[in-house]
Amino acid sequence: MAEDIEARFRSPEAYELARLALEHLESQRIWPTPVNYELWSYIIAEPNGALARELERLLVAGEPITDVLTERLASTYLPKGRLSEQIRDTGKALSRELASAEQAIRTAQESSENFSSRLEETTRTLEKDPSGAALQDVVADLTDATKQMQLQNASVERALAASTTEVAMLREQLEEIRKEAATDPLTLLANRRAFDEAIERIRAEVSEGGGDFCLALLDIDHFKKFNDTWGHQTGDQVLRYVAGVIRQRVAPPMFAARFGGEEFALILPEESLSETAFLVEQILKDVSVASVRRRSTNDNLGVITLSAGIACYRPGDTVHDLIERADASLYNAKRRGRNRLAVEGDG
Ligand code: GH3
Ligand code: MG
Ligand code: MG
Repeated sequence: MAEDIEARFRSPEAYELARLALEHLESQRIWPTPVNYELWSYIIAEPNGALARELERLLVAGEPITDVLTERLASTYLPKGRLSEQIRDTGKALSRELASAEQAIRTAQESSENFSSRLEETTRTLEKDPSGAALQDVVADLTDATKQMQLQNASVERALAASTTEVAMLREQLEEIRKEAATDPLTLLANRRAFDEAIERIRAEVSEGGGDFCLALLDIDHFKKFNDTWGHQTGDQVLRYVAGVIRQRVAPPMFAARFGGEEFALILPEESLSETAFLVEQILKDVSVASVRRRSTNDNLGVITLSAGIACYRPGDTVHDLIERADASLYNAKRRGRNRLAVEGDG
């Protein structure tokens, strides 16, 4: 799908799409910053796509189109291209550093080859001159060659040290990019992609080596109504608040992620169903213990509650099976009145 759009941006209709994107920005009085232009190009190209629908929802809700909002939309809906650009830049810089380290090593090789051939030459001279008359010249020559070699070695060392520092910085940069690719930008919890990888890895470990693990899905109650009442930005603040509570209770080897819109997932290796239920109960209590206030106005937003569903791994389960059972439990918790947890099998 995204590839189709990319092709359309390079087809005869591309100029028309670009014109329409600019017209829309102007008519909605939104600055044509690069991010906005990119977003609106996709919205125009795919008016029924997820991004266009999300924008429509925000506009209907009367949300102001701020830089924070467009950045969030861009990082949610246009994430791969932006990250791969950063990865490409870092990759190019790494190649440059490797090339200059290679050059430094080649210079070192040449200077040591040079030195050996001068040594060989000296040996020949001495062999031809058993009386030792040329000894003084030979010593002077070797001293000179040694000095040159030292100078060259020092410059190679400097070049290699500079490359090593640069490569260490680039490695850190790549680590940052790797983290960013696995993190949900709003809540700073792991994102869905990182969750999918983690649960698959843990399932494989447990199915090979034995042991237990459980999955909990937590969903904010009546969040649509909350957004409708208080606005999307205040809704975002609540998502960050819930994520903060989860972070305080969940430490490695446990794993917490934003599973989807207002849903969170916890993977709990080596925990039994009752241990998992105990932890989730704590989180539900922590979230609902006090009413939340809007940061900008100090309005009392009331109490936020969560519902949760738990399921534990059974030999032979696929990840899909496990998620389905946790989701069915979550549905039961909702059905029984929300602000509670349900475990599998007690439906
Ligand atoms: P229930 O108690 O049954 O879970 O009801 P609900 O209203 O929470 O569930 P529903 O699935 O109807 O609505 C989920 C809402 O979550 C709708 C959507 O606007 C909101 N949402 C999803 N992602 C975000 C987000 O990133 N920010 C904000 N503010 N809201 C979001
Ligand atoms: Mg939901
Ligand atoms: Mg909900």
